[in-house]
Amino acid sequence: MLQTKDLGLKVDLHIHSTNSDGRNSVSIMVAFGYSVHQLDGIGFAEHVTQDHLAPLKSYEEASDYAKKELPTPFHVFPVAELSVWVPYGKGNKERKVHTVVLGEIEELEKMLRTVNFKDQLRLSDLDEFNLAKILAHPTPPFLTPGSLHLNQFDSIEYSPSMLSTSRGKRYSLLDLFANGFSVVSSSDAHSLGALGKYTQFGSVPQDLRYLIDKENISAVGINGGGYHRGISKMKRSLRDQTGINISFV
Ligand SMILES: [Zn+2]
Ligand SMILES: [Zn+2]
Repeated sequence: MLQTKDLGLKVDLHIHSTNSDGRNSVSIMVAFGYSVHQLDGIGFAEHVTQDHLAPLKSYEEASDYAKKELPTPFHVFPVAELSVWVPYGKGNKERKVHTVVLGEIEELEKMLRTVNFKDQLRLSDLDEFNLAKILAHPTPPFLTPGSLHLNQFDSIEYSPSMLSTSRGKRYSLLDLFANGFSVVSSSDAHSLGALGKYTQFGSVPQDLRYLIDKENISAVGINGGGYHRGISKMKRSLRDQTGINISFV
């Protein structure tokens, strides 16, 4: 479904436009992403709180704009951002998290038209739809091993808080890799300035590409160049544990 690895695409799967709580229109976001960040694709993960069909509206607008205005094929991914309840910790506790769902447009539309967003939506309510579930912008409590059932998600969004390795306390990016989790980088951009951040799929160097293939990770995007202090630390750990020398873009 999400074929960033196979296609070698640079995409941002989680952005917002004025169709939900973003500051800019779909067409401006697409134009900016294409020309400034050289994105190959985009996904408008609009919230469904005001208008439950907002993600479809953005998908159509982005597809139309790309077809009419962009010279090369540009991939528009059908996505939406939902608030869902998931089991948390021991017992029957639940917590609400944001999830980006991704799939074929027909399946996304079916889900958006079927689900009652006024009820408390559970992650398991989405099981009947053929949609990938990506845990959006996880904060440290949600990355604690065992506290949230991360394997209920098909993928986890990259978050800068994964960069420090506090093994045993919370998952670092390295722990997630080691446990076979797929990590997707998305910006959750609500404005032009945030678009394309952490989305360096297209320029992942060969040795990291090898690691991604070996560990079956769909995608990883590190906006390198010393952007985060944790980068070099993680680089060292990856080298020590895998013997593979990682050079970040
Ligand atoms: Zn969110
Ligand atoms: Zn968002």
